[in-house]
Amino acid sequence: MLYVSEIFLSIQGESTYVGIPCVFVRLAGCNLKCRWCDTTYAREIKDAREMTVDEIVKEVKTYKSWLAEVTGGEPLLQEDTQELVKRLLDEKYTVLIETNGSVSLKDLDKRVIKVVDVKCPSSGACGSFLMENLEYITEDDEVKFVIEDREDYEFAKKFVEDYIKDRTTKILFAPVRPVLEPSQLAEWILKDGLKVRLQVQMHTYIWKKGEKSPSH
Ligand code: SF4
Repeated sequence: MLYVSEIFLSIQGESTYVGIPCVFVRLAGCNLKCRWCDTTYAREIKDAREMTVDEIVKEVKTYKSWLAEVTGGEPLLQEDTQELVKRLLDEKYTVLIETNGSVSLKDLDKRVIKVVDVKCPSSGACGSFLMENLEYITEDDEVKFVIEDREDYEFAKKFVEDYIKDRTTKILFAPVRPVLEPSQLAEWILKDGLKVRLQVQMHTYIWKKGEKSPSH
């Protein structure tokens, strides 16, 4: 049984899969309280639907998409998430899981593409990243930093240099809008010649903020 906040079809707004139609399964409940969280409604399980893995897979299959993302909240807090991911993979979906990085990735199916957050100082959850998770990040996985200011940028730059750059090249730097303009973050990245990808949330350009938001 899983606590589900919502299941919906949208355009993937983040990651290297940006722009592709994707069905999102947003699970409810989170162990963090990021200051700029844009899915606060999914942090608690009280308003969630209780669904079996079978029911979720059945609903996912009603949408026309080959890409599926399991997100949250923090999806890895729920025991049956592993089974859900496996079932979607067995149904031949390309599956992404977006996680806040604080919960172990150890038992995840090797076929899933992990999009792993590393929380920066401005989030209020800096230090929540489970360092042993580095061991499970492969070149197919993606690591995301949400950046609000220069302090966050310097933190992310150092973390990439110290721990990420030899594990994956799929490194996402995303500005907190509207606090940090993408152009400012772009200038910092260009000046330092970083091997990272600037990420703006495509869905916020397509729809008004908050609508169909797939972000973590
Ligand atoms: S941004 Fe993600 S990890 Fe942070 S509180 Fe919101 S749902 Fe939890």
